[in-house]
Amino acid sequence: MLEQPEAIQQLHYDYFKAGADCVITASYQATLEGFTRRGLSETEAIALIQKSVKLAMAAREDFWGDETNRIGRPRPFIAASVGPYGAYLAHGEEYVGNYGLTKTELMDFHRPRMKALIEAGADMLACETIPSLIEAQALAELLKEFPESSAWVSFSARDEKHNSEGQAFADCARLLEDNPQIVAIGINCTSPKYIPSLIRSAKEVTDKPLLTYPNSGETYSAEKQDWNGDPVYESFGEQARDWYAAGAHLIGGCCRTTPEDIKVIASWAKNLPR
Ligand SMILES: [Zn+2]
Repeated sequence: MLEQPEAIQQLHYDYFKAGADCVITASYQATLEGFTRRGLSETEAIALIQKSVKLAMAAREDFWGDETNRIGRPRPFIAASVGPYGAYLAHGEEYVGNYGLTKTELMDFHRPRMKALIEAGADMLACETIPSLIEAQALAELLKEFPESSAWVSFSARDEKHNSEGQAFADCARLLEDNPQIVAIGINCTSPKYIPSLIRSAKEVTDKPLLTYPNSGETYSAEKQDWNGDPVYESFGEQARDWYAAGAHLIGGCCRTTPEDIKVIASWAKNLPR
């Protein structure tokens, strides 16, 4: 965002062009703590966090300004990424959890960025790659301080039933059910192979819309700060039909997926009954 903001804006545009009805801002790992440690003042750090929303809004303006892009689709919306505390730690803790922090401590960590993102004008928040129930509950509680806002809460998962820390996803969905500001619950940045079963387990306990945007099926190595393993990938966009059939009606791609994958999903999704 500091060095090549135009690349981010272009990427958002590419996703709209590929058929995405929603883009997520580049604020996943953007935090007050991280930016001030890099030498920015607090005011500059907040402005930079807000810039992530401005870039997505500018891409949407650009895209929607061209009438030929509007045919047969709704105006896309912008979800501001609220990455987990683990993303700030930056050693892959978002796939583990067990931070050893209280709910209050997690709320204190998330508060300034959440406020900045809402004030920047995002349509909603994407609380994503959340490894644990306690962090989801901290975010749910914090949302109440911003009563006009809404969010989806999406977990990372370690198998076909549990989030990364080990709580059953169905229990998480059930416990978030009564918060009206949470408009969808889901799983992201998890191997596609676990998705159908995870979604089905939540479907039984919640009436909220379910969402999923898995990664390519590779595994993140904190040591190498890179991804390895084999992607479950040849047909990401086709596999997404199974997630839809399981009950996830908000679908996309997380790490290591591309606009090409979204194009495949959009090509079959646009023919579904609305
Ligand atoms: Zn991811």
